[in-house]
Amino acid sequence: MKYLSTRGLAPPQGFTDILLEGLASDGGLAVPEQWPRIMPVKLQAMRDLAYPQLAFELLRFFADDFPGADLKRIVEKTYTAEVFGTPEITPLKTLDSNLHLLQLSNGPTLAFKDVALQLLGNLFENVLERQDRRLTILGATSGDTGSAAEHALKGKARVQVFMLSPKGRMSAFQRAQMFSLQESNIHNIALEGVFDECQDLVKAVNADAAFKAKHAIGAVNSINWARVAAQVVYYFKGYFAATRSNDEQVSFAVPSGNFGNIFAGYVAKQMGLPIRRLVLATNENDVLNEFFTTGRYRPRPTAETHETSSPSMDISKASNFERFIWDIVGGDGDKVRWLWDQVATEGGFDLSREKEWEKVEEDSGFVAGRSTHADRLETIRRVKKEYGVVIDPHTADGVRLAMRYREPRYPMICLETALPAKFEATIVEALGEPAPRPPGFEGLEARPQRFEVLKPDVEGLKRYIEQRA
Ligand SMILES: *Cc1c(COP(=O)(O)O)cnc(C)c1O
Repeated sequence: MKYLSTRGLAPPQGFTDILLEGLASDGGLAVPEQWPRIMPVKLQAMRDLAYPQLAFELLRFFADDFPGADLKRIVEKTYTAEVFGTPEITPLKTLDSNLHLLQLSNGPTLAFKDVALQLLGNLFENVLERQDRRLTILGATSGDTGSAAEHALKGKARVQVFMLSPKGRMSAFQRAQMFSLQESNIHNIALEGVFDECQDLVKAVNADAAFKAKHAIGAVNSINWARVAAQVVYYFKGYFAATRSNDEQVSFAVPSGNFGNIFAGYVAKQMGLPIRRLVLATNENDVLNEFFTTGRYRPRPTAETHETSSPSMDISKASNFERFIWDIVGGDGDKVRWLWDQVATEGGFDLSREKEWEKVEEDSGFVAGRSTHADRLETIRRVKKEYGVVIDPHTADGVRLAMRYREPRYPMICLETALPAKFEATIVEALGEPAPRPPGFEGLEARPQRFEVLKPDVEGLKRYIEQRA
C-alpha cells in the first residue's frame, strides 16, 4: 500500500515513512492510493474475532510494510482489558431497540482518543527502536489530546514529550490527568497565556528548521494517518456487535471536531462495511454542519471559535476534512490544491457549484446537524431519565442527532467519545450531581503534580527543550 498526498505533488511513501510525519512535503495529507476492499467471505470471517485480532486483520491492509509479527505483538499489547477496562475494548451498550452506545472511552484518559493513541505510542516505539532513532514530541493542548498523547508515550525510552497547556484554563481533572504523571520523559509546561499562544509557540519552534532537525521534533496531531486507521477498527467491532448478519445496515452518530473520528467511519464504509448513514454532530462550532447542509466549507478565524460545554469539538477548521474532499474529487490533487487555494485567498470554497456535490449528497452517507448548550443539557437529562445512563456532553451532541435521524429498520450506533466524569461542571448543571468516577480515578486531583510554568517566549521554550531533550 502506497500513500499519496492529497495535494498530489509529493512522492508516494510507505506506511512506516508517513507514521512519524506531519504534513506531506507539498502541504497535503497522506492518503492510501486506494481503499482496501473487504470481500463478503472475509467480512464474515471477521465477525467473531476478538478486538486485537480484528485490529490486526484491518491494520494489516494499511501497514503492509510493517513486519507482521511486530504488528501482531503490538496490537495484542495495546488492546488489553488492563488498559481498556474490558476484553471487548469497545463494548456496545444497548439503550433501546436499535439504539446503542459504542463505549470508546474506557482507556487511560477516559476519551476515545486513547484507542488510537495507545496504538500509536507502541508503533512509534517499534519504529524508533528498529531505526535507532529518537523523537521529541512537541504539542499544545487544551485538554483531551495532550493527556491521551502523554498517557500513550509515558515511559517510552526514545521519546521525550513537551506539552504546552494554558495555565489555569483546563479543568482540575484534565490538569491532574496530565500533571500527575511521574515519568521523566513527560514535560508538562503550563504557559502563562491562552491556548492560541501555546499553539503559536509550537509553530514558532517548528519554524526553526535547524532546531527542529537537531531534536527530531514531531507531533501526534489529529492528521496522523495511523490514528485514522486505528479508529476504523471500532466501526467494524460496533457493526458486528449490533447486527447478526452482514446483510444488515447500521448508522453511526459521531460527535465531530477535526473530522478524524467520523472520517474513519467513512473509510470503513469505503472498505465495504455496510454503513447506511454517518450522522455528523457539531456543537455551536458548526463548520462541518454548514458544509454538509450547504456545500460551503468556510473555516473560521480562531477569534470566531466559541468556547462551549463540549470543548473537544471547539474547532475552527477540520484538519482531516481535506482527506474526504480528496476522495470526493476522485483523488485529483490539482483540484484539492485549487480548492485549498480558495480557502487561503477567499476564506473558503463552495462545493455545491461543482459536479462532485452530488456524490456528497447521494453516496457519501453523511447527514449533519448542530447542537447548543441547552440541547446538550436536555439530552443528558433525557438519556438519564429514559435509559438510566449518564453520557458526557460530547456524546450528547451525537445522541441528540441520532434521535433525530434514527430509522426503525436500522440500528443506530452512537459513539461515546468521553466519559461524563471528565466534564463534571456540565453534568452537575444538567443532573444536579456529578457523574460517578470509574475505579482508579478517585482522588486524582490530590496526587502530586509535575509541571513547569513558562512565559510565552520562544527562546525560553527552546532553552527548556534543549536542556531536556
Ligand atoms: C477529540 C474529540 C472529539 C472530536 O473528534 P474528531 O476526531 O476531532 O472529530 C469529540 N469528542 C471528544 C470527547 C473528543 O476528545
